[in-house]
Amino acid sequence: MEHQPSVPHKWDVEADVVVVGFGAAGMATAVTAHELGAKVVILEKAPEGQEGGNTRVAGQGYLNTSSVESAIAYLTALCGPFTVPEAMVKVWAEEMCQNNAWLRSLGGNPQEHQPPPVGIEYPDLPGADCVHKFHDGPTYGYSYTWQLFERLVKERPIPILYETPGRELIQHDITKEILGVRAQRGNDAITVKARKGVVLTCGGFENNQEMIRNYLPGVPYCYTSGTPYNEGDGITMAMSVGADLWHMNNYAGPSMALKVPEVRTTFSMQALHYSKETPGGMIVVGPDARRFTDEKFRTRHGKIPVNGRWLPLTTPCPMFLIFDHTLFSSGPLYDKHPSHGWTQIVERYDWSQDNSAELAKGWIKTAGSLEALAAVVGLDPATLADTVSRWNRHCDAKNDSDFGRTLMMAPIAGGPYYAVELSPSMLNTQGGPRRNEKGQIVRPDGTPIARLYSSGELGSIYSYLYQGTGNLGECLAFGRVSGRNAAAEIPWE
Ligand SMILES: Cc1cc2nc3c(=O)[nH]c(=O)nc-3n(C[C@H](O)[C@H](O)[C@H](O)COP(=O)(O)OP(=O)(O)OC[C@H]3O[C@@H](n4cnc5c(N)ncnc54)[C@H](O)[C@@H]3O)c2cc1C
Repeated sequence: MEHQPSVPHKWDVEADVVVVGFGAAGMATAVTAHELGAKVVILEKAPEGQEGGNTRVAGQGYLNTSSVESAIAYLTALCGPFTVPEAMVKVWAEEMCQNNAWLRSLGGNPQEHQPPPVGIEYPDLPGADCVHKFHDGPTYGYSYTWQLFERLVKERPIPILYETPGRELIQHDITKEILGVRAQRGNDAITVKARKGVVLTCGGFENNQEMIRNYLPGVPYCYTSGTPYNEGDGITMAMSVGADLWHMNNYAGPSMALKVPEVRTTFSMQALHYSKETPGGMIVVGPDARRFTDEKFRTRHGKIPVNGRWLPLTTPCPMFLIFDHTLFSSGPLYDKHPSHGWTQIVERYDWSQDNSAELAKGWIKTAGSLEALAAVVGLDPATLADTVSRWNRHCDAKNDSDFGRTLMMAPIAGGPYYAVELSPSMLNTQGGPRRNEKGQIVRPDGTPIARLYSSGELGSIYSYLYQGTGNLGECLAFGRVSGRNAAAEIPWE
């Protein structure tokens, strides 16, 4: 769309606060602004039924911290050398303690994951005891918390314009304040007036391979198990009006997963799950046909310990899961249970019980010998055979002297043999336009761009280590901050 900087002479849609993106952050922003008397409209890129972004398919846990002081200590420690301004950490901590009270005030019914405390990701860090994870509904997963969020918006007079992606911010030529959004409806461009402010809540860049190559460390490409609609649009829109960026190199990943052209999102392989002891032998090798990690290690949202620091798992692409007939014939290689993940909940790909359909499609390759399998997938045959016999010796000795793996210590024995190409996969990116403690998007010199706010994973606060449930918790926390401040603006007209 051609850039048209002047104020449009006609507005197609008008509101006080325009929220771009309908996930948890969009919900918290929209509901907060509405409760303060603002007229709110939500623009959503996805068609009706596929809105909700990563929030819809998340594990559904959100953080509610139990003490402001401990939360400040914990987030400060999580950021480590990748520091975040103290004022931001303080607001995050104060708001994170209010998530349950706010949801309860709106009719939610917060349930703590059982038994608490569940899943403190870095228990040794100061303040870690502040972590408490909650969900709405009978259990976590299955979109239950999202169902509450969706209801909170839909029971209010907040129009949601589906299939209407925000494309460009309308900025006043002289004052540089944000006046509205140019959005797309089918083949038409529409103008959406924001009398008070625009809040960008349109998620990260999980599906923008150009941004992934430029910003994420060490991955030539990466796919997602979340929504396919988050393509970094908020980053492009904010940069075009002068925003600074932060945390672009931080993300909840990588893991290793199958990605095929026919399906937009990734398939997680059961055999690689840290808690599953599938029968049969398997390893993962890189393009040199050598192993490079403990395949069953439970990463901390993609990070592993390296020389006393946590760094993203190395993913030398293309990677291959190499396995035997026992594993192939032990049941579906993919867990299609619809508790979380876009592939399971929205795509609903029905993986065959005996893996035969995926073998026929060529997603799984097979050959009678390791050397022949290597030739099929483009690996060096002698090296792959050597790697497998080395792995089998580790299994006999019950000691993986290369990477210390302790789970699924079964040899890859007898033919036929199988391979699945694996790609780096992620839950979500954390980077985006830099925001301040008021939720305003700021320029490189720290000054706010007037009437422009954000919340959620688009420019999240997480700069380095990540505590699970922190993203949804932050959507609620900064959704309220940005919604409050946008609603308090004096209309520009
Ligand atoms: C499988 C999985 C499990 C997870 N589990 C958890 C968990 O249990 N707890 C937790 O805290 N975090 C979890 N996360 C991370 C968390 O889900 C996300 O970080 C969080 O949902 C982000 O919320 P959001 O509102 O910022 O963005 P999203 O929920 O992704 O919503 C963004 C919305 O913006 C829309 N959009 C995109 N571009 C545009 C545009 N140009 N115009 C208009 N709309 C647009 C999208 O369609 C989408 O609906 C998980 C992620 C995944 C993928």
